[in-house]
Amino acid sequence: MSEKKVITLLNDLGIKYTTNSMIYTFKIFEDDLNFEKLKKFIDKKIISDFSGNAKYYYTSDEINSTEWFVIRSTHHWSYPQPENNYNNIIYDNSNYCTGCGSGLIQKDIFQMKKEPSWGKRNFIHLHWVMDELFINSRILNNFKSQNFTGIEIENVNFYKKNIVLNTVKHLKICNILEKSFFIENPEKIITCEKCNKTKYVLGWGGFYKFNKTILNNNNCDFIKSHEIFGDGLMASRYIIASKKVLNYFILNKIDEIEFKPIVLI
Ligand SMILES: [Zn+2]
Repeated sequence: MSEKKVITLLNDLGIKYTTNSMIYTFKIFEDDLNFEKLKKFIDKKIISDFSGNAKYYYTSDEINSTEWFVIRSTHHWSYPQPENNYNNIIYDNSNYCTGCGSGLIQKDIFQMKKEPSWGKRNFIHLHWVMDELFINSRILNNFKSQNFTGIEIENVNFYKKNIVLNTVKHLKICNILEKSFFIENPEKIITCEKCNKTKYVLGWGGFYKFNKTILNNNNCDFIKSHEIFGDGLMASRYIIASKKVLNYFILNKIDEIEFKPIVLI
C-alpha cells in the first residue's frame, strides 16, 4: 500500500499518528473499535510492514500471570560476516537443508564488519540471524552479575582483521527446549520437500501458548524453542526467557527488547 493510502486509512479510522520522515508511529489498543478494522488490513497483508515492525504492549496482569516470555530485539543492525559465506564459516553446515535453511549449528564465533552502532541501546540482533542476541560490553558486568543460566558469553570478531571487537559480546543460548509450543492460527505452515521438517510463520500479536510442565521444568533463564520459524530460507527458533530476565530488562530500562508473555497450559 502506498504511503498516501496508509495515511488516508489512518485518517479515516481517526487514528492519531506521529511521523518522522517515512516512519509513521501510532498506538492502538485491542479494545479500540478500530482495532479489528485495522487488523483486517494487516491480516490480508495489505499493510504488511505494520505487523513486522509493530511493538506490542501487555497489561501488568498479563505480564504477572506468567513466568516466561518470548523475547526479541527491535534493534536490528548489519549482517553476519562474511555476508556471502557466513553459513560456512560460522556454522557447521553438514546438516544444512538448502530447501528450508534449517540445520545450521554454530561452530565458530560471530564476525561483524565493525563495532555496532549502539546509540543508547544495549542489545542488538543481526539481520538474517533472528535467534542470536548481542550485548553491549558496557553493561556486561551488570548482566553477568545476574548469573543467568543457559547462556555463554562469546567474543565477536572484527571481520577480516581477526581481532576481537571491544563493544560487543554474543549471548550464546546453549539449549533447545523440548517440543512444547501449541501453535495456533499460523500465518503459514511450511513442510520442506527436501528434509520434511516443518517450519511456521506466526504473527507477533496476541499470546503464545506452551506446555506448562516442560517450560517450568527447564533450568534455563534463556532457552530456544524446539520449533523453527521463518519463510523461505529463514529458519530460526524463538528465544524464551524467564521472568528474572524480563525483570532485569525492565529494571535497567532496556527498551529495545520486546517481549511477549507466554500462556502456560
Ligand atoms: Zn528442509
